[in-house]
Amino acid sequence: MKFYSTQRSSPHISFLEAAEKGLAPDGGLYMPETFPGLDLPFENGNPDISLTSLAKTCSYPYLKEDLTVDEIGRLIDDAIHFDAPLVQLDEDLFVLELFHGPTLAFKDFGARFMARLFSAYRTKNRGDLVILVATSGDTGGAVANGFYGLPGVHVCLLYPEGKVSDVQRKQMTTLGENVTALEISGTFDDCQRLVKSAFSDEKLNGDLNLSSANSINIARLLPQSFYYLHACFQLKKLTQIPPVFSVPSGNFGNLTAGLFAEKMGMPVQKFLAATNSNDVVPNYLSGREFSPSPSIQTISNAMDVGDPSNFARIRALFGQDDEAIRNHLWGAAFSDDKIRSKIKETHQRHKYVADPHTTVGLLAVDLYRRDTGDQSPAIVLSTAHPSKFADVVEEETGTKVEIPVRLKKATEKNEESIPLHANYEALKAFLKRTY
Ligand SMILES: *Cc1c(COP(=O)(O)O)cnc(C)c1O
Repeated sequence: MKFYSTQRSSPHISFLEAAEKGLAPDGGLYMPETFPGLDLPFENGNPDISLTSLAKTCSYPYLKEDLTVDEIGRLIDDAIHFDAPLVQLDEDLFVLELFHGPTLAFKDFGARFMARLFSAYRTKNRGDLVILVATSGDTGGAVANGFYGLPGVHVCLLYPEGKVSDVQRKQMTTLGENVTALEISGTFDDCQRLVKSAFSDEKLNGDLNLSSANSINIARLLPQSFYYLHACFQLKKLTQIPPVFSVPSGNFGNLTAGLFAEKMGMPVQKFLAATNSNDVVPNYLSGREFSPSPSIQTISNAMDVGDPSNFARIRALFGQDDEAIRNHLWGAAFSDDKIRSKIKETHQRHKYVADPHTTVGLLAVDLYRRDTGDQSPAIVLSTAHPSKFADVVEEETGTKVEIPVRLKKATEKNEESIPLHANYEALKAFLKRTY
């Protein structure tokens, strides 16, 4: 299968080529030309089908030009070695827990899949690859963990000094081996600027194989469709009505992956685009123009996005038809105050501790049901473990959040990072010296 650019003026290329490029030369995002009709047995199939076997079935049509069946199988087993359980809160309310991976965020699915894809291909074909990533927090940890210890790839992370949380920093600085953390004396924007300068430095790119791992990469998106499909199989044990999916969103990669799953045959009633105060998409869905704005800082900070990059993909999926998008997606935005009181209510009513991001999804279900009267079963995607945002969660629930052993272990190790000025010459010198 070939992949096209949403800008429509780049050559169509294979999955692996699209993954290595990241962004298309015309500035567009890569999309599959078609979606395979997988004919998955949702109606009466095997409800005990595993996430990994589903993932293998689903990825084969996309990857078969680049990897063998055995290579795909090994890649999936190694990348997705954790579950995505569907937890029932109420008769028709479910939470799909996507935080059982090593860094406790759903980004582990995409980052680990992409890392293994790059590594499988690199060791087979060419010299070492250097993955350069600017991060404001969650992405760095997931990418670092995904690539950690893999042959043929090095990861170099740039994060702004003093502007990431302790846990987030430790997830980047305690791994070592092929993972190097650079602490930049500057802002996230400085980190991004440095990375962009490196990518556009032709001389440097002639000496080193540089690649990116940011969230617009198709290799991070595709594996996220697998857990939607698996959620439907888990749900089928209990009900026969197509579900509503509520997706706490920032860059809208996760929601786009849900649309991919639907194209592959998944039954869906509606997608809820749930955001914090960064309300560009809910505004658009309510009939206004799509008008990006500077991001607003909130307590669900992994969703603080003012110009959601995957929106171009959503438009492409609906053939640029605004009305069709507005019919199938319903949107709502919620303030920090609303999120805080819902964390408390969820704990009291359901005995469930939800992180601020997941809580935005829970709020959207309430409002959607009140607005539309639709009582279809609802699945809220839970994107992070509450212990990653312990301050807020403990304040609202009045109970201590337990830190999972795997996170505790990671944060007890020695930290190592290299301080660097926010200066391109300094970064270039470092890269040349190190790789
Ligand atoms: C990245 C992230 C999101 C937003 O996902 P998008 O795919 O960018 O919409 C939501 N919650 C958490 C915890 C995240 O890390």
